[in-house]
Amino acid sequence: MRAIVVHEFGGPEVLRLEDVPQPTPGPSEILVRLRAVGVNPVDVYIRTGTYPFKPALPYIPGSDAAGEIESIGAEVKGFTPGDRVYTYGTAAGPVGACAERAVCTAPQVHRLPPRTSFAQGAAIGVPYATAFRALCHRAAARAGETVLVHGATGGVGLAAVQIAHAYGMTVVGTGGTDRGLQAARESGADFVANHRAPNYLDEIKNATGGRGVDVILEMAAHLNLDKDLSLLAPHGRVVVVGNRGRVEIDPRQAMSRDAAILGMTLFNVNAADMASIHAALVAGLANGTLSPVVGRELPLAEASRAHEAIMEPGALGKIVLVP
Ligand code: NAP
Repeated sequence: MRAIVVHEFGGPEVLRLEDVPQPTPGPSEILVRLRAVGVNPVDVYIRTGTYPFKPALPYIPGSDAAGEIESIGAEVKGFTPGDRVYTYGTAAGPVGACAERAVCTAPQVHRLPPRTSFAQGAAIGVPYATAFRALCHRAAARAGETVLVHGATGGVGLAAVQIAHAYGMTVVGTGGTDRGLQAARESGADFVANHRAPNYLDEIKNATGGRGVDVILEMAAHLNLDKDLSLLAPHGRVVVVGNRGRVEIDPRQAMSRDAAILGMTLFNVNAADMASIHAALVAGLANGTLSPVVGRELPLAEASRAHEAIMEPGALGKIVLVP
């Protein structure tokens, strides 16, 4: 089968399309014929070799995909060949999905509702699970609260807008382009602002009548964490989802509000919480409240272009590779 293979850590040029042996599932594993593969920033971090998770070389990148089950091990219950599914991770870990086929464990495989396309299925794993974890578990956001998705135009951001909207929260979203802000609006944002405009924080504060927001899901904490603290309402919570550097904050802004700064990484989610997250996501996909936005589809051979694009500004939902 064809797969993208990394033989050495480095830039996007280390992603090479090659013929590799087709994997076979063990007794408790599932072989999935992949039709679409989602590209996430974490795939880029892992590829550089500087991320805490460092796979043994050579490896096949990618954690999120969607397709049909081709065969199942003798001990697998609840799935049959032909089932449409999305996957989060493979038996190799948070890698292995940039290929025509991948072997997964049963908890990594989730049923794809008929209304959800394979490309949309490839947009679920990391982005939707992250958005749900940050909003519902870490921030414990409640219906009626106001949520700022600071970076609402990318994979995680649009997922967070849709989940918060479905829960009955008032949603504020930021983005850097008009088409990204339009996508945030169409996903359920009640108010949008451009995070490249000089006075956008004032616009957001004014939109809340001066009170501030209850919850912030932050995609760029190295740029925004200090500003976030002054945007919070009393007892507000910021969840650091994305961060690419150091930042200075004024702790008084947190002190005076009884505010909380919460970290999160998907790698810390235990099996029971992950199963609960995907049960919620599958329900939301099936009833149509969740509808992943796919901004760009590229052939598998163009994985290096996708890795470049995911790090550039101007996000519009998910970038998907088609094997
Ligand atoms: P993405 O699709 O590339 O989206 C990036 C988002 O960041 C876009 O909405 C982008 O907006 C926005 N952004 C750019 N400049 C910003 C600024 N100054 N202020 C606020 N937002 C800004 O990436 P993603 O998959 O959504 O992931 C978002 C971040 O979360 C990444 O850093 C990723 O590594 C991280 N992440 C963390 C976890 C975890 O477990 N903690 C899991 C998944 C992702 P424009 O392009 O419209 O400017």
